[in-house]
Amino acid sequence: VIKIKDIRRDFQLGQEVVKVLKGIDLEIEKGEYVAFMGPSGSGKSTLMNLLGCLDTPTSGSYILNGKDVSQMSDDELAEIRNKEIGFVFQTFNLLPRTTALDNVALPMIYAGKSKEDRNKRAAEVLKNVGLADRMDHKPNQLSGGQRQRVAVGRALVNHPSIILADEPTGNLDSKTSVEIMNLFDEIHAAGNTVILVTHEEDIAEHAHRIIRLRDGMVEKDERKNKG
Ligand code: ATP
Ligand code: MG
Repeated sequence: VIKIKDIRRDFQLGQEVVKVLKGIDLEIEKGEYVAFMGPSGSGKSTLMNLLGCLDTPTSGSYILNGKDVSQMSDDELAEIRNKEIGFVFQTFNLLPRTTALDNVALPMIYAGKSKEDRNKRAAEVLKNVGLADRMDHKPNQLSGGQRQRVAVGRALVNHPSIILADEPTGNLDSKTSVEIMNLFDEIHAAGNTVILVTHEEDIAEHAHRIIRLRDGMVEKDERKNKG
């Protein structure tokens, strides 16, 4: 699904140009389960934002499902994002005054689904993430783990080809983190491509491939034999 070649990302900071990603080559196949690790500032979030079509590279190519998305306009990217990408953030990023059901249904509005279809699919997804009895709750009426489940549901709702998660357990206690990782394991087992960032080895162990970044480059790329 993903093929990136010599991706670089510079940021202009006043007079200075900061080189954050310094030439990354990577291929990720459909159905892989990948964890990115690396020190703070090594460029993990910058890379995830590129993979998630939230940002475009300074140079290099990014082929997503056979399409070069590295030079697309913002509108084109927004469409790809809605169709192909499910993104989960460390801070959940839910709409605060909106129920779990409506938060999950939101991406389907952009996809042009009818209200009936949206509600039906959102309810199905919430059931799959273990929140059948929390559909009408608003984010502040949910625990952190439940909020993250809603965010995962929202990421899955349009049947994306990749699920990206930037430190999805970063704001959760260790027990809740394990529950969320078990959910990602299930999502992967159902045939999805899952790519996440984490600081914790225990969390990364859930993935089948661990890619370590250092200083804007790939330092190590290891696959595990898992069944
Ligand atoms: P963490 O583990 O702390 O989340 P990270 O590996 O995700 O770190 P990034 O957020 O990708 O790191 O940031 C990498 C570097 O890029 C940092 O030094 C950061 O200051 C810089 N950077 C990121 N975004 C911008 C920006 N918009 N403008 C300037 N510099 C930026
Ligand atoms: Mg980060």
